[in-house]
Amino acid sequence: MKVEKNTKKVVKTIRIDVNKCNGCRACEVICSAFHATPRYSSANPARARIRVIRDPLADIYVPVYAGEYAVAECAGRDRYVIDGKEYDECAFCRASCPSREFFKEPDSGLPLKCDMCESDPPEPEPLCVQWCLADALTYEEREVEEQQQPAPEEIEVGLEAMAHKVGWDKLQEMVARMAKRG
Ligand code: SF4
Ligand code: SF4
Repeated sequence: MKVEKNTKKVVKTIRIDVNKCNGCRACEVICSAFHATPRYSSANPARARIRVIRDPLADIYVPVYAGEYAVAECAGRDRYVIDGKEYDECAFCRASCPSREFFKEPDSGLPLKCDMCESDPPEPEPLCVQWCLADALTYEEREVEEQQQPAPEEIEVGLEAMAHKVGWDKLQEMVARMAKRG
């Protein structure tokens, strides 16, 4: 079987320093304006792909940017205790999910996801990072190895070789067992 070389891909992230965030919400404003149609025609934090969980009395502000859409509520949830105060178990989750209104288009209910402000021409850095004067948000790119998937015909050749060695019945048993494990 031909062994494919691993390729590199760039992973983009925003590092969040909650100790620097002052809750100004400039990130929410610029994110929603950037994604408005036409661009910059309106600003509505409810449409932003970054939201700041705010607790002004405790001086706690936690920016959270939107991740993947989840079709169902998750079964296991986390509890957060910050400075002795317990926060809602879904508060800092990045998912757009059926159990809450965060990260959904207010009119259509469609899920919102951070796209790192991809645009043509590209922005030098995501807009929320550029607008965060407190330096609570830092844009980072890192290269990671990407495993190449073998082509289907290569998988077939590999399976045939395996069947030749252990027999088709045994191979089917093994595949069924692996499928059960998920
Ligand atoms: S712009 Fe920066 S300081 Fe202001 S709320 Fe957003 S992350 Fe916090
Ligand atoms: S990177 Fe862009 S899309 Fe993502 S939260 Fe920041 S402003 Fe919004």
